[in-house]
Amino acid sequence: MIVDRRAAAWTAAVAFVLALGALGLLERLLATADRPPGFDLTAQAAPAPDRPPGHLLVVLVDGLRVDDAERLPAWRALAPSSAVATIALPTPTFSRPFYHLLLTGVPPDASGVRSNRFDGRARHDAVTDRVRAAGGSAAFVAEGIDWLRRMHGRPGDGGTDADDALGAPLDEAVRRWRAAPAPSLLLVHVIAVDEASHAHGVGSAAQRAALERADATLARLARAAEGAPVVVLSDHGHLDAGGHGGHEPEVARAPLLARALGLPPGRLAEEVDATRLAATLAAWLGVPPPLTAVGAPVEALAPRGATFEVERHRRLAAAVEAGRRAERERLARRRTWLVPLALVALTLAWRATGSTPALLPAALLWPALVVGLHLLLGRPLTHSALDTTAHHAPRVAALGVLAALATGALAAARVGPRRAALLVGWSAATSALLAGAWVGLALGPWPLGPRERYLPLLLAGAAAAALVAVAITLAAGAWRERAIAAASAAP
Ligand SMILES: [Zn+2]
Repeated sequence: MIVDRRAAAWTAAVAFVLALGALGLLERLLATADRPPGFDLTAQAAPAPDRPPGHLLVVLVDGLRVDDAERLPAWRALAPSSAVATIALPTPTFSRPFYHLLLTGVPPDASGVRSNRFDGRARHDAVTDRVRAAGGSAAFVAEGIDWLRRMHGRPGDGGTDADDALGAPLDEAVRRWRAAPAPSLLLVHVIAVDEASHAHGVGSAAQRAALERADATLARLARAAEGAPVVVLSDHGHLDAGGHGGHEPEVARAPLLARALGLPPGRLAEEVDATRLAATLAAWLGVPPPLTAVGAPVEALAPRGATFEVERHRRLAAAVEAGRRAERERLARRRTWLVPLALVALTLAWRATGSTPALLPAALLWPALVVGLHLLLGRPLTHSALDTTAHHAPRVAALGVLAALATGALAAARVGPRRAALLVGWSAATSALLAGAWVGLALGPWPLGPRERYLPLLLAGAAAAALVAVAITLAAGAWRERAIAAASAAP
């Protein structure tokens, strides 16, 4: 009995350490998401455009869905005189990867900017760099968040990121933008719709109120910019319940509207590849496209009569495709660890749990329950499951513990409570380890698929919580036995 009790206390300690390991894996997967890929893009200078420099206003409404955009009164007022399209976004559909893509034309797989943790300067030449190189100016007006400025700004750029930026400071920024010599770019960033969608979901009262405010800002800007080219767009959509990052249609498509003198109004039949936005914006500003812009300008959205050199874009796109292929192959080679890793884990577990045949069903049941319950709650197996961190993290932890309780209860009927706890702990730890190994244990290239990016995070987070539950169960059992032993030894 004493040996058993000590063993339980030790196993509890091991389970706790494994829980920390699962958290470490989770953090490592998140921390390495923005690592640059293993290939570079060669800068390709483009000839100076055959039109004079100009002014351009870009309005970025963060997290605005296509259907919501098309219902906004200001959008509907602009649409008959504008070219309207839908942007097709690459994954992950997060804000910072899009801000990078919008002005550089380099997709996340090629820039390595894949998450909102990236808070450095842009890794590639951007439209703003071309504007400054042509002697022009860039200004940013953002509602309390300086993400665009941190990425693309330079000291001396105009605008403000204050909380009240969309009030009087916006009018002042518009006045300065119009008065500045060309090329002159003003980027206005509306944040509130995204925040409300995350916290309360699409269609909630808070989100509708945020849409109304965004609509008023848009109407005001459309009036103030009369006569100058205006581009309105968003960086991603949202699931109905709030959340983005994956490839779901309502998430990975964004609205786009361009109004300019001489631009024929109408709806574009084809979706616009997001890598083509940078070169299109550069065309309106009358500056060459960024040096590594992968996509060519969208002719139906660019100034009439402008001619473009598309060969350079084709070469860059081919380089990105070749780089992606090489990354996929590198990752596939990393996955050869999976088989020996699984065999070692299985052997260890077989011995630690006393060679019970209940091992395999328990091993499969825990991850199946975690994934099943996650889907049952209506959350997808992509980053779009992240509504807010405050909701997402406790939910994943609860899934891990619930799945551990259910698996443990089923196994306990056959092998007793202590070995059942061992089985659950083993299953959770191995699931996290194997899912981590599937994506290269954060050592190699990041996986390209939206599900293989998210699943290891889900399993590692749930495993950490399940292992803590196992540690507590074992420690409590050992403590109770000690108390009973002490009581029975008393005179
Ligand atoms: Zn967001």
